[in-house]
Amino acid sequence: MDLGIAGKKAIVGGASAGLGRACALALAREGVDVTIVARTAVNIKAVAKEIGSETGVKVIPVAADINSDEGRAAVLQACPEPDIIVNNSGGPPTGNFRDWDRQAWLAALNNNMLGAVFMIKETVDGMIARKFGRIVNITSSAVKAPISILGLSNSARAGLTGFVAGTSREVAKHNVTINNLLPGDFDTGRHQENTRALAKVQNRTYEEMKAIRTAAVAAGRFGDPLELGNLCAYLCSDQAGFITGQNLLIDGGKYPGTF
Ligand code: NAP
Repeated sequence: MDLGIAGKKAIVGGASAGLGRACALALAREGVDVTIVARTAVNIKAVAKEIGSETGVKVIPVAADINSDEGRAAVLQACPEPDIIVNNSGGPPTGNFRDWDRQAWLAALNNNMLGAVFMIKETVDGMIARKFGRIVNITSSAVKAPISILGLSNSARAGLTGFVAGTSREVAKHNVTINNLLPGDFDTGRHQENTRALAKVQNRTYEEMKAIRTAAVAAGRFGDPLELGNLCAYLCSDQAGFITGQNLLIDGGKYPGTF
């Protein structure tokens, strides 16, 4: 299938590793020019080089905190008229709600809810004017099935989910879609960190914890980030214009519900 987005311009957050990198690569393979963002300059420049030399598209690396006003301004200066946005960055720390003060909550809300809200605010009217826009927010399976040690993530992402549910319906008639992708277990640096944190809480070794987490996935394995990247590219395609306001779980069948 030709996704029909060659020549479009995308901004992808948190793109020097893991899921964001996979989304950027999948879009670039479809001929999309990508502006990719991460805080560590050396890493984002290296990934830009890799993606550019594999795909031949224009790849602009921006070293910035995508969840800060200055960071978003730098990104939008590099790509002022994006057709596609993938809102993604790091997840909040693990822990117990008894230990989180106001500052911890505000940081999680900023990084896992408001960063995406403000990026949408700053780009959606241009998309409406140009009659094409695709926005994908990488949230988490925790939106459907909360994860005990990830209370900050469970909560902040639920807020973003509510915002998208309403806003997506306001902009749909302009061929602008907003959807959330809910990853389950994907083999990334972040996932390994969480496995380590869970192992500590449950007094197990990392290897034991990894085996338990793997067994909980119906597919019997963790996801490959590119499996998520390819779904993201599809949601950003011309063909996906009738899908909006959705929360798409991609978790190898781990979530046990009928719906
Ligand atoms: P990862 O492997 O840790 O990669 C995170 C990427 O985001 C890195 O490139 C990091 O680079 C960048 N980043 C972090 N904070 C940033 C910021 N403020 N501004 C710009 N870039 C930033 O994480 P991942 O596993 O791909 O996860 C991506 C998102 O999906 C996270 O929010 C995570 O909680 C969520 N998620 C992941 C899984 C999973 O199984 N992997 C499951 C559910 C949800 P720098 O540190 O250099 O900025």
